[in-house]
Amino acid sequence: MNFSSKLLEDAVAEFSKLPGIGQKTALRLVLHMLNRDKEEVQRFSHAITKLRNEIQFCETCHNISDQQVCEICSSHRRDHSMICVVEDTRDVMAIENTNQYNGVYHVLGGLISPMDGIGPTDLQVDSLIERLKDGTVKEIIFALSATMEGDTTIFYLHKKVKQFNINISTIARGIAFGGELEYVDEITLGRSIVTRVPYENSISG
Ligand SMILES: [Zn+2]
Repeated sequence: MNFSSKLLEDAVAEFSKLPGIGQKTALRLVLHMLNRDKEEVQRFSHAITKLRNEIQFCETCHNISDQQVCEICSSHRRDHSMICVVEDTRDVMAIENTNQYNGVYHVLGGLISPMDGIGPTDLQVDSLIERLKDGTVKEIIFALSATMEGDTTIFYLHKKVKQFNINISTIARGIAFGGELEYVDEITLGRSIVTRVPYENSISG
């Protein structure tokens, strides 16, 4: 692409680094920005900068949070004996939207993927094990995507957590939804949490 302006080219280059944004889309977005009020663009860039600088991760569940401990982890209305293990914050949002789950979460921050060089030490695995040690947790629900990475991760975590006397279950993962929890509709996802199955059954069956 030939740009008539270096400023334009730089802005397009930054936008096209975003996932799913090609150069053409980037150019469209940048030109859109140019048509907005200066104040509006200022608010936009301020929100992004503030987000990046001030965002925290809950020290218990590692979900994105505005405080040291997130609202879910600090709530007395949540069932702290139940931990739902998910890949990232989008899964927490998807499950919260179903209104079918009242336990707490543990956000791994990814899935084990040898192909991408992501191993257990890159994920929040040790802190999950730590959470199980005081005996509060009675059940772990794996809500990971039905992909090879999801399966590998559950297999690995299961070996780690079975030493504790807790129930281990997975959400119903037979439904074809492209493997990504966030794409499942709320009713299906809600039902798959309610009808979760013990992990041992899910591998032998
Ligand atoms: Zn939390």
